[in-house]
This record gives sequence, C-alpha cells and structure tokens, in this order.
Amino acid sequence: AKEKGRNRICFYDPLMQENIEHKTTMEHELRMALSKEELILFYQPQVNLEGKIVGVEALLRWNHPQKGLIPPNTFIPLAEETGLIIPVGSWVLHRACQQLSEWKKDFPHQPLHLSINVSAKQFQEASFYETVANAIALSGSDAGSIKLELTESLILDSIHETIAKIEALRLLGVGFSLDDFGTGYSSLSYLKRLPLDELKIDQSFVRDIGHDNNDAMIVKTIIEMAHNFDLDVIAEGVEDKEQFNFLMENGCGLFQGYLFGKPMPPEELERLFLA
Ligand code: C2E
Ligand code: CA
Ligand code: CA
Ligand code: CA
Repeated sequence: AKEKGRNRICFYDPLMQENIEHKTTMEHELRMALSKEELILFYQPQVNLEGKIVGVEALLRWNHPQKGLIPPNTFIPLAEETGLIIPVGSWVLHRACQQLSEWKKDFPHQPLHLSINVSAKQFQEASFYETVANAIALSGSDAGSIKLELTESLILDSIHETIAKIEALRLLGVGFSLDDFGTGYSSLSYLKRLPLDELKIDQSFVRDIGHDNNDAMIVKTIIEMAHNFDLDVIAEGVEDKEQFNFLMENGCGLFQGYLFGKPMPPEELERLFLA
C-alpha cells in the first residue's frame, strides 16, 4: 500500500505550500510596512552630456527590521498581484513629491527633475489622476518637474484610455517617460500615438554595447527613433566610460547608472550632488 501511495499523483506539494505561506506572510508584512513607515525612497542621479545632475529617479526600498534593505524586484510583483501596489504607489508619489519640493526650497538653483515609477496596475486605477494631482498639490511641488515612468505593459490596455489619461496629466504639466524601452512589445505605431516626452533605453542593451554588435545597433536605432519622434532619450545602467562615449557619440543626451551614482538616500544625494 505504501508503494502505491508513493506513485500516486501528489496534489499536496510542500514546496508550493511553503511558497504560498511565504507569500501570505510577505503580503501581511508589506501591509504592515506601509503603516510602520518601513518603506523608503532612494534617489539615483540622472546627468546630462557634461555629467551634471539634471534629475533623479526615485527607487523604492523596504527597510525591513530583520532582513535589512529589500530591493523592489522582490516585493513589487507581489504588491501588484495583491493590489497593494495601489497604496504603496500612492505613498511613493506623495513621498517623492514632498522630497522634490524640499529640494526646490533648499537648492533653488538646481534645475532638478524627478522621475517616479508607475506600475501598469496603478496607472489603470480610476483614481490615478487624482492621486497624482493630490500628491503635487499637497507637496506644493511644480508639476513641470515631475516625470512619470511607464512601461510597455500598458500596451495591454485600450490605447484610447491610455492616451486620455496621459493627456489629462500632461495638462497639469506632468511629463512622461517610457521605461525599459525595447524589452516589451510596443509597435512603432503605438509609440507614435502615445504623447510621451522621453524614451528610456533599457539597461540590458546598454550593458553589452561594447561586445554585442546587435545591442549596439539596437541602441543606435532607439536613439534615432526617439529623435524622429521628437523625444528625449535617456540611457539607464551606464556603468563605464565606453558605454557613455558610445551613447554620447550616437546622440543620447541623458544618462543614468553606476558610472555617475548609485541609488542613494536623500541626504547622501544632497551631500554629493546638490550642495
Ligand atoms: P527600473 O525602473 O528599470 O530601475 C532601474 C534599476 O536599475 C534600479 O534597480 C537601479 O538601482 C538599477 N541600476 C541603476 N543603475 C544601474 C547600473 O549602472 N547598473 C546596474 N546593473 N543596475 C543599475 P532597483 O532600484 O532595484 O529597482 C528595480 C525595479 O523595481 C525598477 O526598475 C522598477 O521597475 C521597480 N521599482 C522601483 N521603485 C519603484 C516604485 O516606486 N514603483 C514601482 N511601480 N516600481 C518600482
Ligand atoms: Ca524606472
Ligand atoms: Ca529599466
Ligand atoms: Ca525595470
């Protein structure tokens, strides 16, 4: 009988069960993290051709009391799955806008832009416009200095709704960047119709510029395309001089990556880049 039992298809998978328990625990902890103020924002500099800071991207971290700093890729997918991305995303928008307005006060001569990541699920919410408008109004920050980074996963939505939402926020002055460009499935006709300000070249292409001709070609093409569509283009994941030079020679004007600065706490960014 034991043998038979062993050969039966097993519906109870202890690994899967562990996974579910792990997820449930994490969801609960993430919910608590919001109220316990364990979420924090790091900021990574974005620089121009002269290497001068022109903006920052806000990047979420979870400062877990036991586990330490947890990177977003380990909890954002879960937050999206559970809907927690809505309160988390709203917290990010409020915190980031507040920070921008503090910086504008403390460093009035820095022409600083702030880029904020927005997940598709968050953008799709009926209240998204209001959340953004509120974050801007409450912080007293200048909408024209705020850029929302969207990803190509929005393509699954109705293009008309997407355009209408972007247009409404553009009326406030908010700018839009298409993140991770080249990794998704957006067609050129889609890209042409979206009212964007900037394309962000994904770091997977930037990484191999030096040793992969295809990636170098893709990067060149993206830059050219951005210019044809009258969009700014920023490269992310710039780690060395060779990548920087290649991008510069091919017409890219904005850069972000470890070569210029890692994501860091606000005080460090002030000390190293704003003061
Ligand atoms: P992303 O928006 O594509 O952000 C770029 C990621 O590349 C960041 O990882 C950044 O730390 C990392 N990075 C920057 N420069 C370099 C470099 O030179 N080399 C390498 N290897 N990596 C570099 P991070 O902070 O772990 O964030 C990962 C992803 O999590 C982000 O990818 C974004 O999709 C998501 N994310 C972060 N913050 C938020 C947020 O507030 N809301 C939402 N919805 N997503 C967020
Ligand atoms: Ca981003
Ligand atoms: Ca990216
Ligand atoms: Ca990404």
